[in-house]
Amino acid sequence: MLNDFFSLIYPNTCVICSKPLPNNKSKWCFLCDLRLPKTFLDPQHNAIHKALGHQFPITFGFAPYYFKKGNSIQQILHNLKYEGDKEIGKQMGTQIGHHIIQKEALDEIDVIMPVPLHASKLNSRGYNQSQIIGETLSECVRKPQITGNLYRKRRSTTQTHKSRFKRWESTQGVFGLKDSTSLTGKHVAIVDDVFTTGATIGACLEVLGTVDKIKISVITVAIADY
Ligand SMILES: [Zn+2]
Repeated sequence: MLNDFFSLIYPNTCVICSKPLPNNKSKWCFLCDLRLPKTFLDPQHNAIHKALGHQFPITFGFAPYYFKKGNSIQQILHNLKYEGDKEIGKQMGTQIGHHIIQKEALDEIDVIMPVPLHASKLNSRGYNQSQIIGETLSECVRKPQITGNLYRKRRSTTQTHKSRFKRWESTQGVFGLKDSTSLTGKHVAIVDDVFTTGATIGACLEVLGTVDKIKISVITVAIADY
């Protein structure tokens, strides 16, 4: 009853705690934002580098939040991916942009590239969540986002119940590049929603790594913390 009353005055509610929001500038409230599980407060954090190891050397890796089953980040990324709430991706792209704009390595980035979805998945979902994040990130840091060059050759089967090795195996050769010469000597920042085992990003790096004199960085909203 009280909630109904509030929803008349405040039509927007926080996507995390469901409390009314004073405006539509943010998808989540100030308190929930303070409580987001932030990796950048953790000085030991270099998990993307650690996960990729020496197999795929990257220039820098950045994931500002931890992703854990049942936590607020899992909740909002779920809404972004499966509930059609693209505004979450836009807000995340801007927030990440504000963080990395302070990093020196950013000056070197030439282009932003979202991890592509397979055409059939893009059709059924209607949008690529990584591209949505990349759009506002691109605006914020003033570097162009390129889509269509890196593409998914085949659908990777569901990852959830596979062992780490099986996940790596199932993503081998999944991605292709339509035009590699345009990326020669460029610093490419790959963007994805969440870094889980690194299998998907690793498969992207595998194909991008064949480009002459390329530098690659990895930016994701969150990194899995199990
Ligand atoms: Zn809230």
